[in-house]
Amino acid sequence: MRQKDIMLLDVRFRHVLIEILGILRGKLSIDIQVLETRRDRTRQKMLRKKGASKVNIGWHQFGLAADLGIFADGVYQVDDRLGRYLKLGFVAMAFGCRWGGNWDMDRHIGEGGENDLGHVEYHPNFSLQQYIEAGEQWPSLAG
Ligand SMILES: [Zn+2]
Repeated sequence: MRQKDIMLLDVRFRHVLIEILGILRGKLSIDIQVLETRRDRTRQKMLRKKGASKVNIGWHQFGLAADLGIFADGVYQVDDRLGRYLKLGFVAMAFGCRWGGNWDMDRHIGEGGENDLGHVEYHPNFSLQQYIEAGEQWPSLAG
């Protein structure tokens, strides 16, 4: 089942996401909605099987990723013809998130394969492996 409650997110990511949504909605007047937050193992497996996800374990399972949808005149935007996902990406990256439209974090946005335009994840300076090895919590930033 798809969960879209932001209360299910890691509290640190939740605060960042609230800031991001506030800027997009308030300053940029973009209609943006939360489509999915935390994902359980069963749903992740199902999405992987369907080809909708490329990973067996991902940040959604730890409440450190969210999928957002942009709407124009009430219509969900599947592509970035209007350039609004790009704005989401820039705002999210300014807050230290990784954005699914720029996985390699280079200067070219939306290259082949980088089309998860509504996906944002937050794990400043640590990898999924480091997170899991730390017992599914944020590794010490001092290290
Ligand atoms: Zn996602």
